[in-house]
Amino acid sequence: MRPQHPKNLRIATRGTTREINRRVVLNLIRIHQPISRADLARLMGTRRGAVSVLVNQLIEDGAVFEGATGEAKRGRKPTFLYMDSRERCVVAVDIRPTRTFVMVTDLLGRQLASVTSFPTEREPKRFVTGLAKRVHAILAGHHDLGRCEGIGVVVPGMVDAETGRVLSAPNLGWRDLSLRESITAAVGLPVEIENSGKACALAQLWSSRDSGASGNFVYLTVSDGLGVGVVLGGQLVRGQHNIAGEFGHIPLNLDGPRCGCGASGCWEVYVSNLATLSRYFGRDLRERPFPAEAATLTIDDLIARARGGDAKALAALLATGRYLGLGLGAVINVIDPSHVYISGEITAAWDLIEATVRAALAERVLTQSAGATPIAIVPTEQYPRLRGAVALVAARSFAQDMSA
Ligand SMILES: [Zn+2]
Repeated sequence: MRPQHPKNLRIATRGTTREINRRVVLNLIRIHQPISRADLARLMGTRRGAVSVLVNQLIEDGAVFEGATGEAKRGRKPTFLYMDSRERCVVAVDIRPTRTFVMVTDLLGRQLASVTSFPTEREPKRFVTGLAKRVHAILAGHHDLGRCEGIGVVVPGMVDAETGRVLSAPNLGWRDLSLRESITAAVGLPVEIENSGKACALAQLWSSRDSGASGNFVYLTVSDGLGVGVVLGGQLVRGQHNIAGEFGHIPLNLDGPRCGCGASGCWEVYVSNLATLSRYFGRDLRERPFPAEAATLTIDDLIARARGGDAKALAALLATGRYLGLGLGAVINVIDPSHVYISGEITAAWDLIEATVRAALAERVLTQSAGATPIAIVPTEQYPRLRGAVALVAARSFAQDMSA
C-alpha cells in the first residue's frame, strides 16, 4: 500500500468548505474530549443544528463515537463525544546514534505498551531488517493494539519531506538514504519520517490546547546532537531544501572542535551530551578509546553527581548551560518566538542551569523583553521525540494543515 503523503492529502481534502468544517470539528473533539454537542457549537460559534449534521456524519464514518452521559445541573443530560481511537495504533520510532527507541500508542498518543530500545545498527540495510523484525514482533505480541495506522520515524538528520529520504544524518554517517522507502517495503505499513527537532515541534503544535498562543515557537532537543524545530504562524518551517532551522550548526566558535557536519565549532558540539561529558572528563570523548568510566557514565549520572556535591560535574553542566544560552540568544534574535521549548536529558538539571542559561541569553539578545522569552521544559519522561514520531502519523489524520 502506498503511504498517503500529508501534502497530497492536504490538497485532496481542502476542496470543500464541508470537508474543512469536518476537520475543524474532529480537531476540536480531539482537543476537548469528552465534549457535548452544545459546547462544540459554542466553540465553533455556530448553531447546534449545523454542528450536529457534521457530528452525525463523523459518527457514521466511525471517526467519532458517543460516550458516557455527563453531568448537567438541570434538564436533559448531554452525551459526550469522543474521538474513536479504539483498536487503532501507531508505532513510533526514535533513531538515535547509539540506541533506537520504539513506542506504541493509540491515535491520541496514549502509550499502549512499554517503550523498548535496541542498539542502533549503522549499516542501513541491517538497521531496517532489524527494525522490521522488532515492529512485527511488537504488533504480533499485542493483539489488543488493533490495526496499525502507520509508523512514525524520527531521525537526527535532515529529511526530504517529499521523498522521505534522509539527506544527511552526520552522527549516523547516513547520507542520501531512502529510509522511508526501505522501511515501508520491509514492514508493509505506511511510514512517515522526519527530523527529530521538527517532529518534536509538530507534536508540540499538535498537543497544544491554545493554538492562538503557540503559533510562533522554537523547539530544541538536546541529546546526542542538537535538533531544532521552528514553527511560525502555526506552520513548521522547512525551507527550500528542508534544512531550515538547523541552528545546531551555526558557528559558535570558528576555531572550535570539529562537528559531524564537517564544519568546526558548531553550537551542537558545545551542548550535546557528549560535549558535557567531555568537559567533565577533561578530554574530547569523541576521540577513542574513552576512559573506562566515560563509557558507562550517562548525563543522568553526571546530574546525580552534581546534585551530590561533585563540583566538577556541576561546572560541566553550567558550562553547557552557558553555551545553550549563547546559542539561544542567536536563535531568538533571528526568530523572535513567543515561546522556547527545550527537551533532552540535560533538562533534568534545569533548576541547576536555568540562571546560567538566562544570563548568557541576556548577553546576546537585542532587547531586554526578548531576553524574557518564556522557556518551557518538556520532561524526558514524556518521551517528546517518540511523541513527535506519533504525531507524524496520528496528526496526519486530524490536522493536515499543520506543516507547511
Ligand atoms: Zn555542524
